[in-house]
Amino acid sequence: MNKITKLQQAMPPAMEAALLCDGANRFYLTGMKSSAGAVLVTKKSAWLIIDFRYIEAAEKQVKDCRVVEEKNRFEQIRELLAEEGIKGLSIHNEVVSLGEYRRMEEALAGITLDGSGALSDVMGALRSQKDEDEIDCHRQAQRITDQAFDHICGYIRPGLTETDVAREIGVTMAALGSEDKHFNFIVASGPNSALPHGVATKRVIEKGDLVTMDFGAVYGGYMADMTRTVAVGSVAPEKRAVYETVKEAQERAFACIRPGAVCGDVDAAARDYIYSKGYKGCFSHGLGHSLGVEIHENPRFREGSTDRLRTGTVITVEPGIYLKGRFGVRIEDMVVIRENGFENLTKSPRELIIL
Ligand code: ZN
Ligand code: ZN
Repeated sequence: MNKITKLQQAMPPAMEAALLCDGANRFYLTGMKSSAGAVLVTKKSAWLIIDFRYIEAAEKQVKDCRVVEEKNRFEQIRELLAEEGIKGLSIHNEVVSLGEYRRMEEALAGITLDGSGALSDVMGALRSQKDEDEIDCHRQAQRITDQAFDHICGYIRPGLTETDVAREIGVTMAALGSEDKHFNFIVASGPNSALPHGVATKRVIEKGDLVTMDFGAVYGGYMADMTRTVAVGSVAPEKRAVYETVKEAQERAFACIRPGAVCGDVDAAARDYIYSKGYKGCFSHGLGHSLGVEIHENPRFREGSTDRLRTGTVITVEPGIYLKGRFGVRIEDMVVIRENGFENLTKSPRELIIL
């Protein structure tokens, strides 16, 4: 079933029409990437309203809704809704600024706007349940990511900088077919690895360092996300112990992952283990996040979350321990929730690799 039909079926009775103006949802619904445009969906019709720059490509590529050249967006929306006698329009409130919302209210006078978040909830629920085609895109993106990791393990050596490694990962993934040309990956070595989101710097990698790399390819518009921490030359016993603690925390989380599991409980399985080993306060982020056409989607594994897992959700499991000013370890895999538990899309080894 195409995504527009899915949305139409998921729209609650009171939701007469839906308007989506952000890039991620436009791509999700139409399969076409663009920097502008709006998707208008009613229970029986759907339109992509898009300007002259994209019109030709849209007419060729977009199959599941009518393509209309944008002249005066709100005037066009008003006319299209009038044709179906529709008086209410739901807005994706997560991505519309207050200023835009006010302009919309003015331009669409007579139509009742619903910015309550109902449409955001519907879209979030749809996007969190991937079909097999979407899962296959994630799988291909992860395959490229795994191949790039294998390559980078043969490349890293003392004397290279973090940015050298980040660049090499990017060039390798592009050569392997990744669609992402932005190489802002995390490569954090030595004391920098204690920063959960440290970007690559000019720091020179030394023997004895841990190097944390967090990166992912994009395939068919869908993302991969993986972190591996490797040791360069040798590994001190304390660093190995921290690594094994993170790895065991990840395994404890895996053991809880199945449809119906509460996201906060999965987070707790990893977190409690890390804290019990004396690292309270050293795991400063949530255990994982869903991803799809965007890198951070819902649901998420985080403390206290009452969301329940459902089949088809693609989500990361990424425990970490960060010892300020010293070093850090994170291991991140991407899994898809299956009826009998989960399938791990990440194939790179999770054992500590000493390069
Ligand atoms: Zn990541
Ligand atoms: Zn992640």
